[in-house]
Amino acid sequence: MAIKTIIEPFRIKTVEPLRVTTRQEREAVLKKAGYNLFSVRAEEVLIDLLTDSGTSAMSARQWAGLIDGDESYAGARSFYRFEQVVKELTGFKHIIPTHQGRAAEKILFEIMGGKGKVIPNNTHFDTTRANIEVSGAEAADLPVKEALIPSLVKDFKGNMDITALERLLREKGPEHIPLVMMTVTNNSCAGQPVSMGCIRRVSDLCRSYKIPFFIDACRFAENAWFIKTREPGCKGRSVKQLAQEMFSYADGCTMSGKKDGLVNIGGFLAMNDDELAQKARNILIVTEGFPTYGGLAGRDLEAFAQGLEEVVDEDYLKYRIRSTAYVVEKLDALGVPVFKPAGGHAVYLDAKAFLPHVPPQQYPGHALACALYLEGGIRACEIGSVMFGKTDPATGEFQPAMLEMVRLAIPRRVYTQSHMDYVVECVGEVFAQRDKIPGMRIAWEPPILRHFTARFEPLG
Ligand SMILES: *Cc1c(COP(=O)(O)O)cnc(C)c1O
Repeated sequence: MAIKTIIEPFRIKTVEPLRVTTRQEREAVLKKAGYNLFSVRAEEVLIDLLTDSGTSAMSARQWAGLIDGDESYAGARSFYRFEQVVKELTGFKHIIPTHQGRAAEKILFEIMGGKGKVIPNNTHFDTTRANIEVSGAEAADLPVKEALIPSLVKDFKGNMDITALERLLREKGPEHIPLVMMTVTNNSCAGQPVSMGCIRRVSDLCRSYKIPFFIDACRFAENAWFIKTREPGCKGRSVKQLAQEMFSYADGCTMSGKKDGLVNIGGFLAMNDDELAQKARNILIVTEGFPTYGGLAGRDLEAFAQGLEEVVDEDYLKYRIRSTAYVVEKLDALGVPVFKPAGGHAVYLDAKAFLPHVPPQQYPGHALACALYLEGGIRACEIGSVMFGKTDPATGEFQPAMLEMVRLAIPRRVYTQSHMDYVVECVGEVFAQRDKIPGMRIAWEPPILRHFTARFEPLG
């Protein structure tokens, strides 16, 4: 009989204890935090699935790299190692380190954005959108229609709607579109992958209009794994080769090392264009640092370079993507409404279907996230009307988000299968008692980005 269990392909050398709390303690914690999980101390959380960003466990080799890092101000050995690894992977000519992904975005859009311009993407991540809007430009989301149907099982729901892109290019004119972006995997669309075919077609279209094409590469390795396992003709190629092909269609990329860099901090901006790189380095020196460290310590660059080599390991990726699918399959079997198929970095619960008795103006995603914390000390993240809903200040009319979701993001190499079994059991228990979960009202909110600091009260 063939052995089917996919194990964590690592063993544990250092452990960090988790603090187990009682339900009574968690009730008090929630109340004190104004029912906002961002205000809960990490120590009071048992399984923290708030984000997969910067929460990875580093390998022994990466920790060794921290000691080995060269902290010279200019021309550090660690920079040249980092540059060589990124160049080999992406093929781009200029590699500019930044302290994280949004710093790369800030520099790129400061140069290429501006009033009257439109920057399309399959779906912009929120910091990408914010940096584009701060520059005065407009951020356009062009996801495929299937992306908005949580229960529809389809292979590449992260793709861009190419017909919509063509229409936008025709209507606005290439002079108003300084670049086109593609986010792999599509974080804001449930971590769904983008196909190589789609990347190629968007690249061809951009080349025919002479518009630069940039990849938001945060989860390039997870995306390449999906291409390898799902796209016809790709099975026989290595993830690294597929990643290299993805990058070969682009003129540059932005990257957050806090995702597929397997580090706790770091990012970079890369491109082929000499003039653009010159401008980017000028801004880098003002805001981040000298071009051979750009906002990072030498040791960070060392760990980042090592992480980029480890992340394309196929045993790692097999375990990584399987661990997300495992949770989705188990929840699906319990009848819990989940976004399907499983994406790369997170499991998304469909809160609208989970809590049909809670209308969008009572924030079903938020109510569900609080219930998960109460039940099992699990911290998840609402991605729904708290984050994206709006109330018209003039009419007082409520405008809900497109989807009401709760994201359980899975940190890389941090939790084991028994942790995930525990998560499944807790979600199942909350689901069994879903009728008793009340909606929420906002007791206080700040003028912008309210999900981080708003205070809530349960209704009824
Ligand atoms: C996290 C993320 C960013 C921003 O990166 P930071 O390192 O958090 O600044 C940009 N795009 C996507 C798709 C992301 O997931």
